[in-house]
Order: sequence, then structure tokens, then C-alpha cells
Amino acid sequence: MNKVILIRFGEIYLKGKNRKYFENLLENNIKNALKPYNVEINRIPGRYEVTNIVEDDLDIVLGQVGKIAGVYSYSVAIEVDSNMKTIKDVGLELLHDYSGTMKVVTNRADKTFEKNSMEVSREIGGFLLSKNKNLSVDVHSPNLILNIDIRENKKTYIFSSDMTHLGMGGMPVSSSGRGLILLSGGIDSPVAFYMMNKRGVKLHAIHFHSYPYTSVLAKEKVVELSKILSDYNGGEIVLYLCSMTKVQEAIHKNCTPDYMITLLRRAMFTVAERLAKEKQYQMIVTGESLGQVASQTIESMTVVQNVVESIPIIRPLVAFDKNETIFIARKINTFETSIKPYEDCCTVFLPDSPVTRPQLDKVLLEQNKIDFDALVDEAYSSIEKILIK
Ligand code: ATP
Ligand code: MG
Repeated sequence: MNKVILIRFGEIYLKGKNRKYFENLLENNIKNALKPYNVEINRIPGRYEVTNIVEDDLDIVLGQVGKIAGVYSYSVAIEVDSNMKTIKDVGLELLHDYSGTMKVVTNRADKTFEKNSMEVSREIGGFLLSKNKNLSVDVHSPNLILNIDIRENKKTYIFSSDMTHLGMGGMPVSSSGRGLILLSGGIDSPVAFYMMNKRGVKLHAIHFHSYPYTSVLAKEKVVELSKILSDYNGGEIVLYLCSMTKVQEAIHKNCTPDYMITLLRRAMFTVAERLAKEKQYQMIVTGESLGQVASQTIESMTVVQNVVESIPIIRPLVAFDKNETIFIARKINTFETSIKPYEDCCTVFLPDSPVTRPQLDKVLLEQNKIDFDALVDEAYSSIEKILIK
């Protein structure tokens, strides 16, 4: 008897001719994520199987599998040789102490197996009922399902529904290209990060700070968030740190205060696009959500994205309610770090009434009061790079 994890993939099924490519990529990503645990990963038709798991590592390995994009669902299963006697014994062991309604569901991929799926379910169900008097069968809405998965490799996998978890879903990381995310220390951008990983994008991140107006702790918070997010991103993140101090000081000194955030954001996106071009990122990703704050009205987004000419800006949270974002932030374990109260550079020199519907001509008038290009150059040359694993 062998305890394994069975991994199923979802959307990859939709890929016709390219399916092999996606399957290989997912297999690599699984191997990479589970490398520290010395497990073995085998491909069986339609599934991956993780074996050789040290019992003490089981929970942590399961946690890691839950962070691999492209995994639809996964189950802890008992693997046995395909024969009725062993299947019965293991089924009974799993349901020995269970009381309540149940149903046996058999999936027979191995068409050479002696019985068909209906016969297996009926025989195992009858056997379990005769051995455990606290069981009853409910075929419509059972509290527990016992799955019997008879595979072509002459192995049968037995697991109950409470041993099955939903995975991240989506597509394997790196199957949809590379992106650069603007990562603040807030709640939204880490969620945007996760959403793009889910669609198969490998991300690197840029964080803007205004040291010494923003503290070292603010930077450490972003490093901490990046560590949490790296698990979803294939195990690592390149994080760029860029100083906006000079830009903000110049805006503060020379421009109408209400345009601080608009101009600062134009500078951020200019830096981001330049970095994206240099490092061949195919998209810029942000945590913006339409109408959430003054800088996220459609007018603000329009005048800000106006500085970006050559690559798309993707905003996975554009239609999210804040509560939906927070729900995901809690699920991916970034929320508690995000709400730590360190200031963001957007809060330095924060105007009382930022423009909510900026017009491009007025923005350009304000921008021309400073040497925007030189300041952006200086910000760009301040970039430090750290690798986070
Ligand atoms: P978040 O929770 O992600 O900070 P927010 O609701 O606070 O978002 P804004 O501060 O307007 O909204 O930021 C909108 C987006 O701009 C962020 O989601 C992020 O992508 C980017 N951004 C804001 N501040 C920074 C920063 N200091 N460094 C990098 N990106 C930033
Ligand atoms: Mg923020």
C-alpha cells in the first residue's frame, strides 16, 4: 500500500496539437516546486503521480501542489495493484470509522479490468455496507464519495472526496509569456500577481520607493510579499527597486499639488516600459481596479497609460470589488503582510484633493514644469535588482 498524490490538469485538455508542450511544462513546474522534498513524479495517462513522499512532508507537499498553476485538482490516494480483494480492503480501511451517507464512484480507464465500473461500485459498496453498520448509501447527495480510479498502468487509486482538493486551475506558469508587475506593498497588486500566474504568466516585479520618505520597512514588506508570491511564480521572482524620491521632490516643488499622483504614475509607467523593453517583458501588470480611488478613474488611467507606447498594460482586477480582492489575498496568504502599516511612495506628499478626471493637456502643462525626461532617467539608473526565492 502506497500513499501518493494524484494530480489532474484542467484547461490543458483544451489544447489540441500543442498539448504535449503544455504537459511537459507543467511536469517541469511540478518537479521544480517539489524538488526540496525528494519525491518522485511520474506521468500516468491523464494524470501526474507524486510518490515517495515522507509522511511528515505530506502536508507541506500538498500545500505546494496547491500553488502550481495548471493543476486543476489533486488527491491524496492509496495506490494498489488493480484487483478486487485489495481494493475492498483499502476501501474498508479508509471508511472504517466513517459514519454517514456515501457513494462509491468508479472510473475504469483500464478496459481490460475484469469488471466494469458499475459492477465495481456495486460490489465495493455492498462490501462496505456489510462491514460498517454506520454507513448508508445515498446516490444523489452523499456526504462522502469513495473514488476508485482504475488506470491503464494496472494500478488503482483509491481516495475519498475529503482527500481531494481544488488546485489553482489555469495554465502552467511560463506558458503565457513574461510580464513585469508594478508591485506595491498594498493588498491589490499581490492579488493581481497571483491572477496572472494563474493564466500562465511568469512575472518579475518592480517596486517604487521614496527613501528616505518611505522607510526600509516598506521595502522589507515588499520583499516579504515577493517571497510568498514566488511559490506561485515557479519558485523565484526578480524584484527591481526603483527610487522615485527625486521625481516626487521635483513635482512637489514645481507643480500644482493635485497632479502629484498623476505625474508620479506617469513616471512609474515610463520607467516600467523602459525596463520591459530592455528585459523583454511582454506586458505590464498592475493591481488597478476601476474607480477604486482618484488615480483609478478611467480618465486617470487614460492619461497615465498614455506614456506607454509599445506594450499592453494588463489589469486583472479591473472589475473586482475590494472584497473579492481581499478574499483572494487571504487565500494566497498575502493579506496579513499587505495590511502592515508602512507607507507607500504614493502617500508621500499626498495632495488633499487629487484630480479625479485629469485632462491630458493640463497634465502635460504640469509635466512641463519639471525636467521629466531627466528625472525619469535618474530614477531608471537608481534601479537595484534582487533575486527572491
Ligand atoms: P495596491 O493595493 O496594489 O497598492 P491600491 O489600491 O493601493 O493598490 P494605488 O496605490 O492607486 O492602488 O496603486 C495602483 C497600482 O499601481 C497598484 O496596484 C500597483 O500595481 C501600482 N503601484 C502603486 N504604488 C506602487 C509602488 N510603490 N510600486 C510599484 N507599483 C505601485
Ligand atoms: Mg497602494
